[in-house]
Amino acid sequence: MKVVLQNLTKKFPSRNRKVREEVVAVNDFCFEIPDGKLVGLLGPSGCGKSTTLSLLCGLQKPTSGRIFFGEDDVTELPAEKRGVGVVFQNYALYPHLTVRQNILFPLENLKGAEKLTKTQMLEKANEAAKLVQIDDLMDRKPSELSGGQQQRVAIARALVKMPRVLLLDEPLSNLDARLRLQTREEIRRIQKETKITTVFVTHDQEEAMSISDMIVVMKQGVIQQIGKPQEVYDSPANLFVAKFLGTPPINVFRGEIKDGRLYIGENALFPVKGIPGQEVFVGIRPEGFVLDENGPLVCRLGGVEVMGRDISVVSTHKASENSNIRAIISAENKVDTSSQTVRFSVKQSKVFVFAKKTEERIYFDMD
Ligand code: ADP
Ligand code: MG
Repeated sequence: MKVVLQNLTKKFPSRNRKVREEVVAVNDFCFEIPDGKLVGLLGPSGCGKSTTLSLLCGLQKPTSGRIFFGEDDVTELPAEKRGVGVVFQNYALYPHLTVRQNILFPLENLKGAEKLTKTQMLEKANEAAKLVQIDDLMDRKPSELSGGQQQRVAIARALVKMPRVLLLDEPLSNLDARLRLQTREEIRRIQKETKITTVFVTHDQEEAMSISDMIVVMKQGVIQQIGKPQEVYDSPANLFVAKFLGTPPINVFRGEIKDGRLYIGENALFPVKGIPGQEVFVGIRPEGFVLDENGPLVCRLGGVEVMGRDISVVSTHKASENSNIRAIISAENKVDTSSQTVRFSVKQSKVFVFAKKTEERIYFDMD
């Protein structure tokens, strides 16, 4: 089921009595989620992820704009008629019901032509439980389950009606690091098996990058960039997106384009043809540095951290926006730690230039 958001906008009245301005939680969203794909909505807290999800599931009405599931305009349709399965951050299982009863619950409320017999219901509940691998826990109460198991029950409950669209709002944030990793792989597997069009909300860039076919990066209710995770990482549209994706984060410097060259401080990195002179921000991915004793970028060496396959060279530069510059290079390289300075050349494909004023990307031809 393809999902289309068309000029979707949601405004809330201001909570602040002094500032009468309304909050635009979702500002003119236009995008299409292809059938059977998993889309990650990614952005910091308060950027409008949950609001978007609740517009999709029908818990809130948009101020303007439309939502389509396939060819159906569902904008006015109440939540229970949309055929969506939803999993929230606090999975909200019924504590007094067993796992089986929790999963059965959405089926017991079906009315009219959709009504199922008890046997049919149990069959569907078992199928959903098998899918998330909790079929041996059906008689337990939620309190007798681990966090990860509870989350699986919540997912089974969302899947039991075979929804047209699956909506997941930060479904992993209550789990510890290891379970988070495992459960996100599970969600990916289930999504691939069922081919249900899925929207996955998270503020965790690594989570979104690893699980999504496509990510939508958001900031203060405005879409910043849409694309495949790798494409967005490799070619961020603005400084915000560049900074939001990647661990360790991108290194940002104050720079300048002058006489057809890109400068960081006094250090001329490389020629940039045809770009007018101006002040810029220069972002360099940690993997974009190359140790080079004749390299143009001269930094003050802080230290070296060994990470197994790679090493992280920590340094500083007076034009750096980050307090530390992190360069990730192969452990085969040797760094002279007795030296005060370390010199780098850079991989041009890992260097992004942004206009100082707008923080929008300035594209340049690479040699
Ligand atoms: P996220 O899920 O990305 O953290 P939300 O969608 O919850 O963000 O919120 C987006 C913005 O809308 C925030 O500024 C939030 O304060 C505001 N907001 C959300 N729900 C309401 C509401 N019911 N009334 C007023 N403001 C709201
Ligand atoms: Mg939220």
